[in-house]
Amino acid sequence: MNDKKLSIMAIFAHPDDLAFSCAGTLARWAEEGHEIHAICVTTGNVGTLRTDLTLDDVAQMREKELRASNEILGIKNTIMLGYPDGGFIDGKKLRKELIYHIRALKADRVVTFDPWQKYEVHPDHMMVGRMAAEAAAFAAFPLLYPDQIKGGVSPYSCSEVWFMGILGHAPNMYVDISSTFQKKVESALKFEATLTLLADLFAPNIDPANVSPKELKKLTKYAQRLLRSMAIAIGKKVNLEVAECFFMQKTLPGHFDNFQMLMSEMLGNPPEKPKVI
Ligand SMILES: [Zn+2]
Repeated sequence: MNDKKLSIMAIFAHPDDLAFSCAGTLARWAEEGHEIHAICVTTGNVGTLRTDLTLDDVAQMREKELRASNEILGIKNTIMLGYPDGGFIDGKKLRKELIYHIRALKADRVVTFDPWQKYEVHPDHMMVGRMAAEAAAFAAFPLLYPDQIKGGVSPYSCSEVWFMGILGHAPNMYVDISSTFQKKVESALKFEATLTLLADLFAPNIDPANVSPKELKKLTKYAQRLLRSMAIAIGKKVNLEVAECFFMQKTLPGHFDNFQMLMSEMLGNPPEKPKVI
C-alpha cells in the first residue's frame, strides 16, 4: 500500500454538488490523512425555488451549509471563488484561477464533474468540469500564465482527474465508503436542497425551510435509506456493501494518458476491470 499523503482538490460548481456523489470518498481520504481542498466555483445564489429570498440571502445560506458539511467530512480548506450561479462563468478566467490553485496547493488529484456526460444541461457543471480537467492537464507548463510563476508559485503536474458520478463514462474506480457512509448522510443533511428532495420524495407535509428536530430525525432516516440504496446499487457491481464510483484519467502535460484505452474501446475489446479501493 502506498501511503504517500496526497493533496486532493475537489472542484465543483455549487455548494451542494458533492453531497451525493463523492462525499463518502472525500471523508475517507481525509481520514487517511490526505489533504483535501474544496473549491466551490459559484456562490450557488440562484439555487432555490423559494420566492422569499434574495440572491445574497441564498449565497450566504449556501456558503454556511457548505462549510458545515465540509467540517463533518474533515475538509479543512474550503475556497469560494464567488462566480455567479446559473450559466455566467467565464471559462478562460476560471481556468487561470484553477491552475493557480493547483500550482499553489500542489494538487495531485482533482475530483470534478464529467463535462462529457450525456444530456447534462447545467452550464455550470459542464464549464467547471471542463475547466477543472484542463487546469489539471495544463498546470505543468511553465510558460502558461507566467505572471503566476513570477508571483512565486511553481508549475505543478497534477497526475489524476477523477470524474464523479455514475452517468458519464463507465466507472473504472470504485471506493469503499462503509467507514464514512454515516458522515456522508450527516453532511448531506446540512443542505436545504437535500431536505427539499427528501420532503418531496417521502414527507410532503414537512416544510424543508423550517424543519423541527423531530422532523429532522425523520428526514435523517429517509436520507439513510435513499443514500444507502444508491451506494448499495453502485457497490453491487464490485462486491462492496456501499460504494461511490468514478471515471479516472491519468494526465500527461496537455492530455489525458488514455491512448491505449481509446484504442482498445475502438477495437471493441472488453474494458479493463475497474479498480476497487
Ligand atoms: Zn450543481
